[in-house]
Amino acid sequence: MEHKRSAEIFEEAVKYIPGGVNSPVRAFKSVGINPIFIDHAHGSHIWDVDGNEYIDFICSWGPLILGHSNEQITAGIADMVAKGTSYGVPTAIEVEMAKLIVDAYKGIDKVRMVNSGTEATMSALRVARGYTGRNKILKFEGCYHGHSDALLVKSGSGTITYGVPTSPGVPADVVKHTLVTPYNNIEALEAIFNEQGDDIAAVIVEPIGGNMGLVPAERDFLEALRKITQEHGTVLIFDEVITGFRIAYGSSREYFDIEPDMVCFGKIIGGGLPVGAYAGKAEIMDMVSPVGPVYQAGTLSGNPLAMYIGKKQLEYLRDHQEVYKELEEKANYLAQGIRTHLQDLGLNYHVAQAGSLVCLFFTDKEVRNYEDAMTCDTEKFNHYFQALLEQGVLVGPAQYEAMFLSTAHTKEDLDKALVAIGNALRIAH
Ligand code: PLP
Repeated sequence: MEHKRSAEIFEEAVKYIPGGVNSPVRAFKSVGINPIFIDHAHGSHIWDVDGNEYIDFICSWGPLILGHSNEQITAGIADMVAKGTSYGVPTAIEVEMAKLIVDAYKGIDKVRMVNSGTEATMSALRVARGYTGRNKILKFEGCYHGHSDALLVKSGSGTITYGVPTSPGVPADVVKHTLVTPYNNIEALEAIFNEQGDDIAAVIVEPIGGNMGLVPAERDFLEALRKITQEHGTVLIFDEVITGFRIAYGSSREYFDIEPDMVCFGKIIGGGLPVGAYAGKAEIMDMVSPVGPVYQAGTLSGNPLAMYIGKKQLEYLRDHQEVYKELEEKANYLAQGIRTHLQDLGLNYHVAQAGSLVCLFFTDKEVRNYEDAMTCDTEKFNHYFQALLEQGVLVGPAQYEAMFLSTAHTKEDLDKALVAIGNALRIAH
């Protein structure tokens, strides 16, 4: 496979953009090669600037649950553009979008739009602190909640890949209120709450950890978390930037039947345009300016184009909830196929699956937390990644990312991908 044009663009890119990319997870640096540059994508397939075609399991890291450039979602966007791209004054579609989200997520009353997942989690924490009058927050090791200062501590995703789970540039003073404890560990959670529970404003958690590979929270753990936060008057925030509207139409709230006090959404509610949102019960959300004193704002928040695409995607999902079963079946088929290859090769690696998310961990350990994820053989993963790419299969260029499936992935795609995965595993070993 030729990557001549991508190499040329990359050579130019590094002159003007740090590392040549606008987000570290896009660099293929961690897997030892240069990134490919994309020309276009449709359905489950993506084409690079050299004309190479790949089955895409990145899917823009989650928002494209219906596949790339789905006409049902994108139709009419040109008419919207013709009407104007941003006004800075309210539009009816923002209200329709808010109603759609509130109706979908049981237990929340109000929602505020922002432009990214990072903004959503950062703002939710501020509101929770304003609401409780407390400073401390608690997060879990290996969970990624975007790149705001307070949350860039023992983080996940690209921060693990590049070995900086706690980033330089974040002053110790700024994160002195950020407590961190292991995921899926009730004892450690209880110990921290016994000591400091009444000072903790909020706990933020990925109900299915999607940034240290794929590590679902255990039900007991989430239940303990709900109980202990309630006992201490701590706001429980579900970060559903990956799981929202992906794991079920009612998100993790429906999947686990556990109700948080606040929730953060991201990419998926924009269907590929820049969006985020945070939401919660009315008495918490009414802390936000201009009703309450907690300030949070955004020039492009609720942007009409993003609302248009996002709303169409959510409406499609609301009206076709059978897609969740279909997505889960596809993911299950893929996960089982990977397990069969592993068995044939005498490998005992851990394969995780939740809804439409799949992850092959290059470790024999069952991965329940960050520490387990760290036992992966990333060298072998890198060989595997490169071998997949060469065979026209694109997965996240790092061990600590999940594979994202869309409704556009066909059985033929999955079968082709499985043949490539078998070959790549053989090459890597
Ligand atoms: N929270 C989670 C769980 C995420 O996975 C991400 C990004 O992948 C974020 C927050 C940050 O979202 P964004 O990249 O839109 O700022």
